[in-house]
Amino acid sequence: MNSIVAIVGRPNVGKSTLFNRLVQRREAIVDSVSGVTRDRHYGKSDWNGKEFSVIDTGGYAIGSDDIFEEEIRKQVNLAIEEADLIVFVVDVEEGITPMDAEVAKILRKVKKPIFVTVNKVDNAMRDADAVEFYNLGLGDYHTISSINGSGTGDLLDALAEKM
Ligand code: GDP
Ligand code: MG
Repeated sequence: MNSIVAIVGRPNVGKSTLFNRLVQRREAIVDSVSGVTRDRHYGKSDWNGKEFSVIDTGGYAIGSDDIFEEEIRKQVNLAIEEADLIVFVVDVEEGITPMDAEVAKILRKVKKPIFVTVNKVDNAMRDADAVEFYNLGLGDYHTISSINGSGTGDLLDALAEKM
């Protein structure tokens, strides 16, 4: 059975950009204005000879903050049920937001492997800024740039090791 990798996190952190890079096809809808992915997307990928499925979570409606947060909680819980490995994407430009902390709180109770992935680390200067994500209480993290691809090979190595 191929492993299932779910990409979770609040809107705009770059989940769909990472998904597109992993599946190497423009399957996910990336909206650069609102950062909203309209649907849940599934793709296939492989690394180091291991095939796996990727889920891009999203489908958030623009509306009240309450609906927003409830929707994210729902998506995260669905992903936890469905996936074998969870990639929790956060954004180095924004740092830890209250919504990130909420997601981290859910994920801390999960027994499956969690990969905290600090995105938008487009240059080495931003590596230092990523340190604060230790405070999510989920251990070590990976730094990546979904846009230029840096760090994504190391992330995939780590994922493949747990498949
Ligand atoms: P999602 O809502 O989490 O799926 O986020 P998207 O993939 O739609 O990306 C939201 C915005 O962040 C878009 O404008 C992307 O171009 C931008 N973005 C995604 N990854 C990176 C990255 O590695 N570096 C930078 N600078 N911007 C990124
Ligand atoms: Mg998206």
